[in-house]
Amino acid sequence: MAYPDLYLLIDGQRLSGGGRRTHKVVNPATGAALADLPLADAADLDAALAAAQRGFDRWRESTPHERATVLQGAARLMVERQEELARIATLEQGKTLAEARIEVMMNVGLFNFYAGEVFRLYGRALVRPAGQRSTVTKEPVGPVAAFAPWNFPLGNPGRKLGAPIAAGCSVILKAAEETPASALAIVQCLIDAGLPGDVAQAVFGVPDEVSRHLLASPVIRKMSFTGSTSVGKHLAKLAAEDCKRTTMELGGHGPVLVFADADMDKALDTLVAGKYRNAGQVCVSPTRFIIESAAYDRFLTGFIERAKAVRVGDGAATDSVMGPMANARRLDAMDRLIGDAVAKGARLQTGGERIGNAGFFFTPTVLAAVPTDAAIMNEEPFGPVALINSYADEAAMIAEANRLPYGLAAYVWTSDAARQRRVARTIEAGMVGINTAMIGGSDSPFGGVRWSGHGAEDGPEGIDACLVTKAVHEG
Ligand code: NAD
Repeated sequence: MAYPDLYLLIDGQRLSGGGRRTHKVVNPATGAALADLPLADAADLDAALAAAQRGFDRWRESTPHERATVLQGAARLMVERQEELARIATLEQGKTLAEARIEVMMNVGLFNFYAGEVFRLYGRALVRPAGQRSTVTKEPVGPVAAFAPWNFPLGNPGRKLGAPIAAGCSVILKAAEETPASALAIVQCLIDAGLPGDVAQAVFGVPDEVSRHLLASPVIRKMSFTGSTSVGKHLAKLAAEDCKRTTMELGGHGPVLVFADADMDKALDTLVAGKYRNAGQVCVSPTRFIIESAAYDRFLTGFIERAKAVRVGDGAATDSVMGPMANARRLDAMDRLIGDAVAKGARLQTGGERIGNAGFFFTPTVLAAVPTDAAIMNEEPFGPVALINSYADEAAMIAEANRLPYGLAAYVWTSDAARQRRVARTIEAGMVGINTAMIGGSDSPFGGVRWSGHGAEDGPEGIDACLVTKAVHEG
């Protein structure tokens, strides 16, 4: 399949050339260049800001029916274009086509959910004596600057666009320069479904330049960012300069507590698939496997066996289970983190190597007995590495789960109902899976606590994060 043309989408216009700087987009399965992406300059960003203000002035007045029609129309187009969208995502990001198709359907579910939610943006009337009236209403926060990373090239833009559009906001989306065609294709579905071109725009650029420019503008009233904790902290400071509202979806270091009474085959099948999904480049990836000592040997042996059986290959090939890593930076990170862990005493049980010279392939990796002072036990690995350690009892397992300042997703595997509730309550995380790896859904808030960020996307909470509250009192 041909890779599409790339451009900036500002005020409904496709812009490229004109002496703009460019970024080379590559196929992670081969390392070959796909296309040159034009990068926005200051004048482009100013044009996008002016359009976003006009788009907001117009879209805040739209009816729930108009918003629902656009969201449902875009969802229908995504279903029709599922194969084309999935192929673009696989070409530029590397994940398997099966995973990319699921991403399309996640957007479809989310947009349809929001199409219903727009009719439920209720306020309330307070109890007052006759002749007085007090109401509380919800209003769209204003133009949103949204920054989406490359790991879910279709799903992240969908999340960044769906909620603000449902709430009546306009959006300037800066998706990752590594995966621009997927983001453009999602915006195009909205525009083809009738969304005015000043309500949703897509820009690309030098990330720090773009975020500084947009966040310095009083036009932007909210920032939504998904990415690493370090970049998130930096952007939160920039947003604070103008007291802008923020939603921050940052990194994680997913603890997985497995007790000896768990259904071990189900746990292993689920967790191995979850670990190597998108080559581990998932913020809710299961990462620190915290195993009760009585089950340790059985769990480790079963995990290694299954990890060795994961077929790695071009995401576009039908028999690949795990594609390449998305970029060369992740390969370097794997070498550094695994090398450091082994030097500090971890046992490399399988994997730990790059595969071939073309593309960014890495073997599914298992490290056992990883010391707490290894960098990989503290830094989000964002790669296909499972860290499997043994702990004496529940108290030690919970202490390890809560040791890090991250709090995104946590997983608990046990058949003891009382323990399920106890552990779920004690773990610091935004999302907890009990005997499951499914911790998201269009109707359910997705977000973390502490260094994993604040605010949520998806669910009613996702729209609420794009609304402000106004109380009006009449005497
Ligand atoms: P990175 O932190 O440099 O970039 C992550 C994302 O943030 C990219 O999409 C990038 O374009 C964007 N970004 C970076 N600096 C920015 C800035 N100043 N303004 C606006 N956007 C900016 O790292 P990376 O090498 O692309 O990814 C590596 C790390 O990022 C991973 O280890 C992981 O921790 C994190 N990450 C997290 C998620 C997530 O879903 N939470 C997704 C992708 C990457």
